[in-house]
Amino acid sequence: MSSVDSQRRVVSGMRPTGSVHIGHYHGVLKNWVKLQHEYECFFFVADWHALTTGFENTENINNHTWDMVIDWLAAGVNPGSANLFIQSRVPEQAELHLLLSMITPISWLERSPAFKEFTEHNSDRERTTYGMLGYPLLQSADVLAYRAGLVPVGADQAPHIELAREIARRFNHMYGSELDFEANAEAAARKLGKKASKLYHQLRFAYNSHGDLDALQTAQALVREQSKMTLGDKERLLGYLEGDSVTILPEPQAVLSGLASRMPGLDGRKMSNTYQNIIPLRAEPGYVEKQIRVMPTDPSRIRLQDPGEPERCPVWQFHQIYSNAEEQSNVAQNCRNASWGCLECKQRVSDAIIAEQAPIRERGKQYEDDLDIIHSIIADGTEKARDAARATLEEVRDAMRLAYR
Ligand code: SF4
Repeated sequence: MSSVDSQRRVVSGMRPTGSVHIGHYHGVLKNWVKLQHEYECFFFVADWHALTTGFENTENINNHTWDMVIDWLAAGVNPGSANLFIQSRVPEQAELHLLLSMITPISWLERSPAFKEFTEHNSDRERTTYGMLGYPLLQSADVLAYRAGLVPVGADQAPHIELAREIARRFNHMYGSELDFEANAEAAARKLGKKASKLYHQLRFAYNSHGDLDALQTAQALVREQSKMTLGDKERLLGYLEGDSVTILPEPQAVLSGLASRMPGLDGRKMSNTYQNIIPLRAEPGYVEKQIRVMPTDPSRIRLQDPGEPERCPVWQFHQIYSNAEEQSNVAQNCRNASWGCLECKQRVSDAIIAEQAPIRERGKQYEDDLDIIHSIIADGTEKARDAARATLEEVRDAMRLAYR
């Protein structure tokens, strides 16, 4: 039975499909840097995921992977606090993906919004692969292999975490059954003591009768804080809260990070390597200035004296991220009154991006010339990730009667 406190564990990955850019920094990496001090974190290079759409062109995966790890470290991700690894170096994740594929109905995967969108935009059936259909399941295996309770994602990925929850529930229901489970769980509840046992049952009732999530979380915390209880009894009580079986794979929760989807690209669309509208995380200052200078603005500002409307201007979206409230109010006023030119307005954005990137560029330089350090950081992180995934797979094989002892 699991000794993992899944509510303290976070897992998150990033595809090595191109340069890490400031959209990744604001949407993902800043969050990772914060989480690494509060949780046990597993951050991985999602190289298998890169193959779901880029299986024909793999020549850059190697370079993108190492560059990406340098970007993470430059951004402040600390290998002393978080485990950094490469997905394909943990074969247990692939094994779990395969085992879960046996119990996952195809209809669950076909209803994924990402798959629907992909098939709508790709009429070529040769490109609609088995890997593409199964990528949300691989994502589930990424999370469940580490029994992580928390997964930071953008809103577009939230349905995939819901899928991971459904799969975990199905798995626990199928393979987590135990002879006399209810009697054993009730016996475990009595070990909480009279008062705590009463509270446990009240909270369990509140969750099961009207879906009170606060009650569920309070009850889970109550069980986890029992220092003298056996792990088996704890797992029984956690499983009993939500159903009639032991929890082998805990259901993860999505932690939504809203900013990623709001970071504009240089052309006003979402910043993305696909659109080639990015500012790389460790870009040279001259490059940043040049790119911002040529950004489109409100088309009604043709001459200096033409008033503009910030809401129609992609540069304004950068101000919303990089400028404080007072500066934003000045920008909006100066734009609407035509009291400054767009170049001056853009210069403020360039200066803010360059200032933010200065320490990141500096840290990145320390690693660029020393790939040995990067390799050893990944080797250490992979070892820890494999230990965690191995422990899960042992329980999974046991539960599925595939242990062959
Ligand atoms: S002044 Fe600034 S916000 Fe207004 S149109 Fe020009 S660049 Fe955009």
